Amino acid sequence: MVQTPTPKSSGLEDVDRLLRADREHVIHPLYHPTDHAQPMVIVRGEGADIFDASGKRYFDALSGLWNVNIGHGRPELAQAAFEQMSTLEFNNNYVGFANLPSARLAEKLIQLTYPNLNAVYFTTAGAESNESAFKTARFFWKLLGKPDKVKIISRRWGYHGVTMAAASATVLPAYHRMFAPLMPNFIQTTGPYRFRCELEDGGIRPCTAPSAHDYAEALEQTILEEGPDTVAAIIGEPVQGAGGVIVPPDDYWPKLRQIADRHQVLLMADEVITGFGRTGKWFALDHWNVQPDIMSFAKGVTSGYLPLGGIMVSQQIQNAINEAPLDLKFTHAATYSGHPVCCAVGVANIEIMEREGIVERAAETGRRFIDLLRRQLEPLAWVGQVRGIGMMAAVELADPNATGSAYYDNAVGLAARVIGQCVANGVLTRRLNNTIVMAPPLISTGEQLSRLVDILGEAIQRESSV
Ligand code: PMP
Repeated sequence: MVQTPTPKSSGLEDVDRLLRADREHVIHPLYHPTDHAQPMVIVRGEGADIFDASGKRYFDALSGLWNVNIGHGRPELAQAAFEQMSTLEFNNNYVGFANLPSARLAEKLIQLTYPNLNAVYFTTAGAESNESAFKTARFFWKLLGKPDKVKIISRRWGYHGVTMAAASATVLPAYHRMFAPLMPNFIQTTGPYRFRCELEDGGIRPCTAPSAHDYAEALEQTILEEGPDTVAAIIGEPVQGAGGVIVPPDDYWPKLRQIADRHQVLLMADEVITGFGRTGKWFALDHWNVQPDIMSFAKGVTSGYLPLGGIMVSQQIQNAINEAPLDLKFTHAATYSGHPVCCAVGVANIEIMEREGIVERAAETGRRFIDLLRRQLEPLAWVGQVRGIGMMAAVELADPNATGSAYYDNAVGLAARVIGQCVANGVLTRRLNNTIVMAPPLISTGEQLSRLVDILGEAIQRESSV
C-alpha cells in the first residue's frame, strides 16, 4: 500500500508564507501579477471536486486543465507510481534500451487507437508531441525523396502548445504577440467555426447561413496556393478545445482526409484534449470514421497524474522510420521519452477507464449534459451559442443588441464576471474572451452536472442584468 506521508505542516500561516514566496518567485503560465493578486491555493482533490486551503470545495468543471479524465484522488494511480518508482524509477529509453511499462503502454495504445496507427514515440507534454509530429512529417517526406515538403498548415482558433513550432501552429493571436516572429513554413488558414462567418468576408459577425460555408474547401485552397509539393502536413484538433470547443460540421474531417490524400499531405490529429474519452469515444476522429496519419496525445493518457504524451504514427510512417539508411536515422530524442513511472501510471489509468466503462459513460453523461446546457441556457438573451460533444462544451456569450464584432466583444466583460460568480458558488472553469469552456471529469454525476448548469445559468442571468 502507499504510505501516507505525515504533512510537515498544514497550518494556515504556512500557506500565507508560501503564498508570499509564490508571489515573489514564481512566474506562472500566462503570467501577469495583476491577475495573480488573490491566487487560489488548491490543496486536495477527490472525484470531480477540488478543495482550496480554506477547505472550500469546488466542482472542477475543466478537469484540471482538460486532463483529469478519471477524476481526482484515485489511489490506484498513486500505487502504480509507487511500485514503479520503488522498482525502477528511471533509465533512458534510447535505442538499445527498453523498459517494461512503456512497452506495455504501447501495446494498449495500439489496441485502443485508430487501426492504421502502429507505433508510438513518447513525450512528456502536448507541445512536445506536436513538435515531434512536425519533425516526423518532415523526416518522412525526406526519406520519400520529397525534401521540399516541409510546411505545416494549421487552422484559425487552433491551439497546439507554446514551444516555438507548436506556437507557430497555434492560431490564437494572444500567444504570438510578444514572441513573434513565428517560425517560417507554418501556414495558418481558416478554421471550421460556424458561429463566426470568417469565410464570408474575413470579418467576424454572427453567422446567418452556416451551411453555405465549406471550410474544408478553404483549407484545400491554402494547400493549392502554397503548392502541394511544399506542404508536409495539416494539423488540427478534431474538436478545437482551448479556442472555444469548436465542433466542426460532420462532413469536415472526411473531406480533410480526402484533401490530404489528393495532395499527398499527411493528416495530423492533435488529440491532446479529445483523446482518452473526452468526446465520448476513445479518440475523436472515430465520430467521423476518419483515421489520421499521425496523432498527438498527452493530458488524459495519465489523467494528469504525471506528465506524459506522445505521437502515434501510421504503418507507412513506421516503415519509413524502420527502413531508413543508418546515416539518416530518426535522430529525435528526449531524456524522458518512455519514462517508466509515467508509462506505468498511463497503463493503470487506461485499465481503470476500461474496467469502469468510463468512455461509454462519458458518451451517455455528455449527451445529457449538453442537452441540459442547451435547454437551460440557450433561451437566455446573452447566450449566443451552446456547443459541445461528449464531455466538452462551451457557452459563447454575445450582446443581443449589438452587431459586427461588438456582438462578441461586448460580452467579454460579462464572461469574466460569470466566471467570478461561478467561483464564488463553488464551480471552477475558464474562458476564452467571451466563451466559457467546460470539460468536467468523465466520472461526473448527473447531479453534479445539473448543479453546474444551474450555477452557470444563474450567473449569466444575474451578471447580464446588472
Ligand atoms: N494541443 C492541444 C490540443 C492542447 O489543448 C494543448 C494544451 N492545452 C496542447 C497541445 C499543449 O499541451 P501541453 O500544455 O501539455 O504542452
